[in-house]
Amino acid sequence: MEAIVADLAGRPLVIEGNLELTWYPPLIPGANNPTPDRTMTRYPQLAAALMTWHEKQGRHDLPWQLDRTPYRVWVSEIMLQQTQVATVIPYYQRFMARFPTVTALAEAPIDDVLHLWTGLGYYARARNLHRAAGRIRDEFDGDFPKTFDQVASLPGIGRSTAGAILALSRGERFPILDGNVKRVLARYFGVEGSTAEKSVSDRLWQLSDACTPEDHVDVYTQAIMDLGATVCTRHKPLCTYCPLNEECFARATGRQGELPTPRAAKGARRSREIFMLVAMRNDGSVLLERRPDTGIWGGLWCLPEFETVSAASIYAGHTLQAAEAQPKPLSIVEHAFSHFDLVITPLLTRCEGHAGVMDTIPTLWYNTRDPARIGLPAPIKTLLENLSSPTLFDSNPPS
Ligand code: SF4
Repeated sequence: MEAIVADLAGRPLVIEGNLELTWYPPLIPGANNPTPDRTMTRYPQLAAALMTWHEKQGRHDLPWQLDRTPYRVWVSEIMLQQTQVATVIPYYQRFMARFPTVTALAEAPIDDVLHLWTGLGYYARARNLHRAAGRIRDEFDGDFPKTFDQVASLPGIGRSTAGAILALSRGERFPILDGNVKRVLARYFGVEGSTAEKSVSDRLWQLSDACTPEDHVDVYTQAIMDLGATVCTRHKPLCTYCPLNEECFARATGRQGELPTPRAAKGARRSREIFMLVAMRNDGSVLLERRPDTGIWGGLWCLPEFETVSAASIYAGHTLQAAEAQPKPLSIVEHAFSHFDLVITPLLTRCEGHAGVMDTIPTLWYNTRDPARIGLPAPIKTLLENLSSPTLFDSNPPS
Protein backbone atom coordinates (compact mmCIF):
# COMPACT_ATOMS: atom_id res chain seq x y z
CA MET A 1 0.00 0.00 0.00
CA GLU A 2 1.28 3.46 -0.88
CA ALA A 3 2.13 5.70 2.02
CA ILE A 4 0.75 9.23 2.12
CA VAL A 5 3.87 11.34 1.85
CA ALA A 6 2.97 14.98 2.06
CA ASP A 7 2.75 17.80 4.51
CA LEU A 8 -0.24 20.05 5.05
CA ALA A 9 0.59 22.00 1.89
CA GLY A 10 0.92 18.85 -0.19
CA ARG A 11 4.72 18.96 -0.32
CA PRO A 12 6.67 15.70 0.14
CA LEU A 13 7.93 15.32 3.67
CA VAL A 14 11.65 14.66 3.50
CA ILE A 15 14.12 14.22 6.27
CA GLU A 16 17.83 14.48 5.63
CA GLY A 17 19.12 11.21 4.33
CA ASN A 18 16.16 11.16 1.94
CA LEU A 19 13.93 9.37 4.37
CA GLU A 20 10.35 10.22 3.55
CA LEU A 21 7.88 10.33 6.39
CA THR A 22 4.23 9.53 6.33
CA TRP A 23 2.11 12.48 7.39
CA TYR A 24 -0.94 11.72 9.48
CA PRO A 25 -3.64 14.21 10.35
CA PRO A 26 -3.53 15.23 14.03
CA LEU A 27 -5.35 12.81 16.31
CA ILE A 28 -8.41 14.23 18.01
CA PRO A 29 -9.12 12.58 21.37
CA GLY A 30 -12.47 10.85 21.28
CA ALA A 31 -12.95 11.30 17.54
CA ASN A 32 -13.06 8.45 15.06
CA ASN A 33 -9.45 8.90 14.01
CA PRO A 34 -8.16 7.03 10.96
CA THR A 35 -5.73 4.20 11.57
CA PRO A 36 -2.30 5.37 10.42
CA ASP A 37 -0.66 3.60 7.54
CA ARG A 38 2.41 1.77 8.83
CA THR A 39 4.13 0.89 5.60
CA MET A 40 7.20 2.90 6.52
CA THR A 41 9.72 0.59 8.05
CA ARG A 42 11.37 2.92 10.48
CA TYR A 43 8.56 3.09 13.00
CA PRO A 44 8.34 -0.62 13.83
CA GLN A 45 12.14 -0.73 13.88
CA LEU A 46 12.24 2.00 16.49
CA ALA A 47 9.66 0.27 18.69
CA ALA A 48 11.34 -3.11 18.40
CA ALA A 49 14.79 -1.71 19.17
CA LEU A 50 13.46 0.17 22.18
CA MET A 51 11.63 -2.81 23.62
CA THR A 52 14.65 -5.09 23.22
CA TRP A 53 16.82 -2.49 24.91
CA HIS A 54 14.34 -2.01 27.71
CA GLU A 55 14.18 -5.68 28.50
CA LYS A 56 17.91 -5.70 29.22
CA GLN A 57 18.70 -2.14 30.26
CA GLY A 58 15.47 -0.48 31.30
CA ARG A 59 14.08 0.14 34.77
CA HIS A 60 11.75 -2.58 36.02
CA ASP A 61 11.51 -2.18 39.76
CA LEU A 62 10.40 1.39 40.34
CA PRO A 63 7.63 1.54 42.95
CA TRP A 64 4.95 2.50 40.42
CA GLN A 65 5.94 -0.36 38.11
CA LEU A 66 4.75 -2.88 40.69
CA ASP A 67 0.99 -3.41 40.81
CA ARG A 68 0.25 -1.06 37.93
CA THR A 69 -3.24 0.16 38.64
CA PRO A 70 -4.47 3.31 36.87
CA TYR A 71 -4.47 5.15 40.20
CA ARG A 72 -0.87 4.24 41.04
CA VAL A 73 0.32 5.09 37.53
CA TRP A 74 -1.60 8.37 37.60
CA VAL A 75 0.03 9.50 40.85
CA SER A 76 3.48 8.57 39.54
CA GLU A 77 2.97 10.36 36.23
CA ILE A 78 1.91 13.54 38.00
CA MET A 79 4.81 13.41 40.45
CA LEU A 80 7.30 12.74 37.65
CA GLN A 81 6.32 15.89 35.77
CA GLN A 82 9.31 18.26 36.00
CA THR A 83 10.85 16.02 38.67
CA GLN A 84 13.59 13.38 38.64
CA VAL A 85 12.83 9.75 39.47
CA ALA A 86 15.24 9.66 42.44
CA THR A 87 13.48 12.66 44.00
CA VAL A 88 10.02 11.24 43.41
CA ILE A 89 10.52 7.74 44.89
CA PRO A 90 10.32 8.61 48.64
CA TYR A 91 7.47 11.06 48.05
CA TYR A 92 5.59 8.45 46.06
CA GLN A 93 6.04 5.79 48.72
CA ARG A 94 4.82 8.07 51.51
CA PHE A 95 1.91 9.25 49.38
CA MET A 96 0.74 5.74 48.50
CA ALA A 97 1.11 4.57 52.10
CA ARG A 98 -1.12 7.42 53.27
CA PHE A 99 -3.54 7.37 50.29
CA PRO A 100 -3.61 3.77 49.01
CA THR A 101 -6.80 4.31 47.00
CA VAL A 102 -8.34 7.12 45.04
CA THR A 103 -11.14 7.28 47.61
CA ALA A 104 -8.65 7.66 50.44
CA LEU A 105 -7.15 10.58 48.54
CA ALA A 106 -10.55 12.13 47.86
CA GLU A 107 -11.57 11.88 51.53
CA ALA A 108 -8.34 13.43 52.87
CA PRO A 109 -8.11 17.11 53.82
CA ILE A 110 -6.13 19.11 51.25
CA ASP A 111 -3.68 20.05 54.02
CA ASP A 112 -2.74 16.37 54.39
CA VAL A 113 -2.09 16.11 50.66
CA LEU A 114 0.00 19.28 50.55
CA HIS A 115 1.87 18.16 53.66
CA LEU A 116 3.09 15.06 51.81
CA TRP A 117 3.93 17.21 48.78
CA THR A 118 6.07 19.67 50.76
CA GLY A 119 9.42 20.03 48.98
CA LEU A 120 8.28 18.44 45.70
CA GLY A 121 7.29 21.80 44.19
CA TYR A 122 4.68 22.69 41.55
CA TYR A 123 1.92 22.42 44.14
CA ALA A 124 -0.87 22.86 41.59
CA ARG A 125 -0.18 19.22 40.77
CA ALA A 126 -1.20 18.16 44.28
CA ARG A 127 -4.29 20.35 44.31
CA ASN A 128 -5.36 18.96 40.93
CA LEU A 129 -4.79 15.37 42.11
CA HIS A 130 -7.02 16.03 45.09
CA ARG A 131 -9.73 17.68 42.99
CA ALA A 132 -9.62 14.90 40.41
CA ALA A 133 -9.87 12.25 43.14
CA GLY A 134 -13.00 13.99 44.41
CA ARG A 135 -14.51 13.87 40.94
CA ILE A 136 -13.67 10.19 40.53
CA ARG A 137 -15.36 9.49 43.87
CA ASP A 138 -18.44 11.54 43.00
CA GLU A 139 -18.85 10.88 39.28
CA PHE A 140 -17.39 7.39 38.83
CA ASP A 141 -18.22 5.77 42.20
CA GLY A 142 -14.54 5.73 43.08
CA ASP A 143 -13.54 3.63 40.04
CA PHE A 144 -10.86 5.12 37.83
CA PRO A 145 -12.57 6.24 34.58
CA LYS A 146 -12.51 3.85 31.65
CA THR A 147 -12.29 5.99 28.52
CA PHE A 148 -9.60 8.31 27.25
CA ASP A 149 -11.98 11.27 27.18
CA GLN A 150 -13.06 10.70 30.76
CA VAL A 151 -9.47 10.44 31.96
CA ALA A 152 -8.34 13.49 29.96
CA SER A 153 -11.22 15.55 31.40
CA LEU A 154 -9.85 15.30 34.95
CA PRO A 155 -7.99 18.30 36.41
CA GLY A 156 -4.26 18.22 35.74
CA ILE A 157 -4.40 15.41 33.15
CA GLY A 158 -3.50 16.36 29.59
CA ARG A 159 -3.41 14.25 26.47
CA SER A 160 0.03 12.74 27.10
CA THR A 161 -0.63 11.91 30.76
CA ALA A 162 -4.00 10.33 29.92
CA GLY A 163 -2.31 8.25 27.22
CA ALA A 164 0.47 7.18 29.58
CA ILE A 165 -1.99 6.12 32.29
CA LEU A 166 -4.05 3.99 29.90
CA ALA A 167 -1.03 2.57 28.08
CA LEU A 168 0.95 1.68 31.19
CA SER A 169 -1.86 0.39 33.38
CA ARG A 170 -4.19 -1.19 30.83
CA GLY A 171 -2.02 -1.73 27.75
CA GLU A 172 -4.34 0.41 25.64
CA ARG A 173 -2.80 1.89 22.53
CA PHE A 174 -2.44 5.62 23.05
CA PRO A 175 0.63 7.63 22.05
CA ILE A 176 2.35 9.86 24.57
CA LEU A 177 4.46 12.97 24.18
CA ASP A 178 6.11 14.04 27.40
CA GLY A 179 9.38 15.96 27.46
CA ASN A 180 11.54 12.84 27.21
CA VAL A 181 9.61 11.45 24.25
CA LYS A 182 9.70 14.80 22.44
CA ARG A 183 13.46 14.85 22.77
CA VAL A 184 13.97 11.30 21.49
CA LEU A 185 11.65 11.73 18.50
CA ALA A 186 12.95 15.19 17.57
CA ARG A 187 16.51 13.90 17.53
CA TYR A 188 15.80 10.56 15.90
CA PHE A 189 13.68 11.97 13.08
CA GLY A 190 15.44 15.35 12.87
CA VAL A 191 12.39 17.47 13.65
CA GLU A 192 13.34 21.14 13.57
CA GLY A 193 11.63 23.95 15.44
CA SER A 194 10.64 24.65 19.04
CA THR A 195 8.38 21.99 20.52
CA ALA A 196 6.35 24.88 21.97
CA GLU A 197 5.12 25.66 18.44
CA LYS A 198 1.89 23.97 17.51
CA SER A 199 3.06 22.82 14.09
CA VAL A 200 6.11 21.12 15.63
CA SER A 201 4.07 19.62 18.42
CA ASP A 202 1.52 18.29 15.91
CA ARG A 203 4.28 16.69 13.92
CA LEU A 204 5.78 15.04 16.98
CA TRP A 205 2.34 13.70 17.93
CA GLN A 206 2.06 12.19 14.46
CA LEU A 207 5.44 10.55 14.82
CA SER A 208 4.65 9.34 18.32
CA ASP A 209 1.43 7.80 17.09
CA ALA A 210 3.14 6.18 14.13
CA CYS A 211 5.84 4.69 16.37
CA THR A 212 3.47 3.30 19.00
CA PRO A 213 3.03 -0.42 18.35
CA GLU A 214 -0.24 -2.31 18.45
CA ASP A 215 1.07 -4.84 20.97
CA HIS A 216 3.02 -4.47 24.20
CA VAL A 217 2.18 -0.79 24.35
CA ASP A 218 2.98 -0.71 28.06
CA VAL A 219 6.52 -2.00 27.43
CA TYR A 220 7.09 0.38 24.53
CA THR A 221 5.78 3.38 26.45
CA GLN A 222 7.97 2.68 29.44
CA ALA A 223 10.93 2.04 27.12
CA ILE A 224 10.79 5.33 25.24
CA MET A 225 10.27 7.30 28.45
CA ASP A 226 13.23 5.51 30.06
CA LEU A 227 15.46 6.09 27.04
CA GLY A 228 14.77 9.82 27.19
CA ALA A 229 15.38 9.92 30.93
CA THR A 230 18.56 7.84 31.05
CA VAL A 231 20.26 7.74 27.61
CA CYS A 232 18.90 10.44 25.30
CA THR A 233 19.34 13.04 28.01
CA ARG A 234 19.10 16.77 27.46
CA HIS A 235 22.83 17.26 27.86
CA LYS A 236 25.49 14.80 26.71
CA PRO A 237 23.25 11.98 25.46
CA LEU A 238 24.86 8.55 25.65
CA CYS A 239 24.56 7.81 21.94
CA THR A 240 27.13 5.03 22.05
CA TYR A 241 24.80 2.99 24.26
CA CYS A 242 21.61 3.95 22.49
CA PRO A 243 19.63 1.26 20.65
CA LEU A 244 18.57 3.85 18.06
CA ASN A 245 22.03 5.14 17.24
CA GLU A 246 22.38 3.58 13.79
CA GLU A 247 19.35 5.37 12.37
CA CYS A 248 19.34 8.53 14.44
CA PHE A 249 19.38 11.78 12.47
CA ALA A 250 20.89 13.85 15.28
CA ARG A 251 23.70 11.39 15.85
CA ALA A 252 24.45 11.05 12.14
CA THR A 253 24.71 14.80 11.76
CA GLY A 254 26.25 15.60 15.15
CA ARG A 255 23.28 17.81 16.04
CA GLN A 256 22.28 16.31 19.40
CA GLY A 257 22.90 19.68 21.07
CA GLU A 258 20.62 21.51 18.62
CA LEU A 259 17.63 19.20 18.71
CA PRO A 260 15.01 19.68 19.91
CA THR A 261 15.39 23.33 18.93
CA PRO A 262 15.68 25.37 22.15
CA ARG A 263 12.99 27.93 22.84
CA ALA A 264 13.89 31.51 22.05
CA ALA A 265 15.78 32.97 24.98
CA LYS A 266 13.64 35.07 27.26
CA GLY A 267 14.82 38.34 28.72
CA ALA A 268 16.92 38.60 31.85
CA ARG A 269 15.71 36.48 34.74
CA ARG A 270 13.48 38.42 37.11
CA SER A 271 14.06 38.74 40.80
CA ARG A 272 11.35 39.64 43.32
CA GLU A 273 12.08 40.90 46.84
CA ILE A 274 9.56 40.51 49.63
CA PHE A 275 9.45 40.55 53.43
CA MET A 276 7.90 37.86 55.61
CA LEU A 277 6.97 38.35 59.22
CA VAL A 278 8.15 35.75 61.74
CA ALA A 279 5.74 36.56 64.58
CA MET A 280 6.74 34.31 67.47
CA ARG A 281 4.92 33.67 70.73
CA ASN A 282 6.66 32.78 73.98
CA ASP A 283 6.00 29.06 73.42
CA GLY A 284 7.99 29.27 70.17
CA SER A 285 4.99 28.97 67.85
CA VAL A 286 4.91 31.16 64.77
CA LEU A 287 1.97 32.69 62.94
CA LEU A 288 1.23 31.20 59.53
CA GLU A 289 -1.37 32.12 56.94
CA ARG A 290 -2.83 29.93 54.24
CA ARG A 291 -2.01 31.32 50.80
CA PRO A 292 -4.71 31.65 48.13
CA ASP A 293 -5.20 28.61 45.90
CA THR A 294 -3.82 30.43 42.88
CA GLY A 295 -0.35 31.91 42.53
CA ILE A 296 2.93 30.66 43.90
CA TRP A 297 2.73 28.15 46.75
CA GLY A 298 -1.06 28.11 46.27
CA GLY A 299 -2.89 26.53 49.21
CA LEU A 300 0.27 26.16 51.30
CA TRP A 301 0.80 27.69 54.75
CA CYS A 302 3.33 30.47 54.82
CA LEU A 303 4.58 33.41 56.87
CA PRO A 304 2.60 36.63 56.32
CA GLU A 305 4.06 38.41 53.29
CA PHE A 306 4.63 42.14 52.83
CA GLU A 307 6.05 44.41 50.17
CA THR A 308 7.86 46.68 52.64
CA VAL A 309 9.34 46.62 56.14
CA SER A 310 6.98 49.36 57.28
CA ALA A 311 3.91 47.39 56.18
CA ALA A 312 5.19 44.40 58.17
CA SER A 313 5.92 46.64 61.20
CA ILE A 314 2.43 48.16 61.15
CA TYR A 315 0.82 44.73 60.93
CA ALA A 316 3.02 43.42 63.76
CA GLY A 317 2.31 46.42 65.99
CA HIS A 318 -1.38 46.98 65.34
CA THR A 319 -2.73 43.55 64.56
CA LEU A 320 -0.43 41.32 66.58
CA GLN A 321 0.45 43.85 69.31
CA ALA A 322 4.08 42.90 68.95
CA ALA A 323 6.53 43.85 71.68
CA GLU A 324 9.15 45.36 69.37
CA ALA A 325 8.45 48.51 67.38
CA GLN A 326 10.77 47.32 64.62
CA PRO A 327 10.96 43.62 63.64
CA LYS A 328 14.49 42.27 63.39
CA PRO A 329 15.74 41.14 59.97
CA LEU A 330 17.08 37.57 59.79
CA SER A 331 19.28 36.05 57.12
CA ILE A 332 17.90 36.37 53.62
CA VAL A 333 16.29 33.30 52.07
CA GLU A 334 16.49 32.87 48.29
CA HIS A 335 14.33 30.52 46.28
CA ALA A 336 14.43 29.91 42.55
CA PHE A 337 11.19 29.34 40.68
CA SER A 338 11.18 28.27 37.04
CA HIS A 339 10.79 31.83 35.79
CA PHE A 340 12.01 34.11 38.60
CA ASP A 341 13.96 34.26 41.84
CA LEU A 342 12.26 35.08 45.11
CA VAL A 343 14.36 36.92 47.69
CA ILE A 344 12.79 36.80 51.14
CA THR A 345 13.86 38.91 54.11
CA PRO A 346 12.34 37.33 57.24
CA LEU A 347 11.47 39.89 59.93
CA LEU A 348 11.41 38.52 63.46
CA THR A 349 9.16 39.90 66.16
CA ARG A 350 7.88 38.70 69.51
CA CYS A 351 4.15 38.85 70.18
CA GLU A 352 1.73 37.71 72.82
CA GLY A 353 -0.90 35.82 70.97
CA HIS A 354 -3.76 35.85 68.56
CA ALA A 355 -5.05 39.35 69.23
CA GLY A 356 -7.30 40.04 66.30
CA VAL A 357 -5.53 38.34 63.44
CA MET A 358 -7.48 39.00 60.23
CA ASP A 359 -10.33 36.55 60.06
CA THR A 360 -10.61 36.66 56.27
CA ILE A 361 -7.38 34.70 55.92
CA PRO A 362 -7.04 31.28 57.61
CA THR A 363 -4.23 31.39 60.18
CA LEU A 364 -2.63 29.07 62.69
CA TRP A 365 0.19 29.08 65.21
CA TYR A 366 2.78 26.58 64.07
CA ASN A 367 5.18 24.97 66.50
CA THR A 368 8.07 22.89 65.17
CA ARG A 369 8.08 20.88 68.41
CA ASP A 370 4.58 19.65 67.61
CA PRO A 371 4.14 20.43 63.91
CA ALA A 372 0.70 20.39 62.33
CA ARG A 373 0.22 18.20 59.23
CA ILE A 374 0.05 21.00 56.70
CA GLY A 375 1.75 21.88 53.44
CA LEU A 376 4.68 24.24 53.77
CA PRO A 377 6.91 25.67 51.03
CA ALA A 378 10.31 23.99 51.38
CA PRO A 379 12.29 27.19 52.16
CA ILE A 380 9.73 28.23 54.78
CA LYS A 381 9.89 24.78 56.38
CA THR A 382 13.68 25.07 56.59
CA LEU A 383 13.43 28.59 57.99
CA LEU A 384 10.98 27.50 60.68
CA GLU A 385 13.18 24.56 61.65
CA ASN A 386 16.09 26.95 62.18
CA LEU A 387 14.25 29.20 64.61
CA SER A 388 15.09 27.27 67.77
CA SER A 389 18.22 29.19 68.80
CA PRO A 390 17.90 30.53 72.38
CA THR A 391 19.74 33.68 71.28
CA LEU A 392 17.45 34.30 68.33
CA PHE A 393 16.24 37.63 69.66
CA ASP A 394 19.66 38.67 71.00
CA SER A 395 21.95 38.18 68.04
CA ASN A 396 22.90 40.98 65.74
CA PRO A 397 21.06 41.30 62.46
CA PRO A 398 22.95 39.79 59.53
CA SER A 399 25.11 42.22 57.64
S1 SF4 B 1 21.49 8.16 19.14
FE1 SF4 B 1 21.83 9.76 20.66
S2 SF4 B 1 20.58 11.50 20.01
FE2 SF4 B 1 19.86 9.70 18.88
S3 SF4 B 1 18.14 8.91 20.05
FE3 SF4 B 1 19.98 7.81 20.73
S4 SF4 B 1 20.80 8.98 22.49
FE4 SF4 B 1 19.31 10.28 21.40
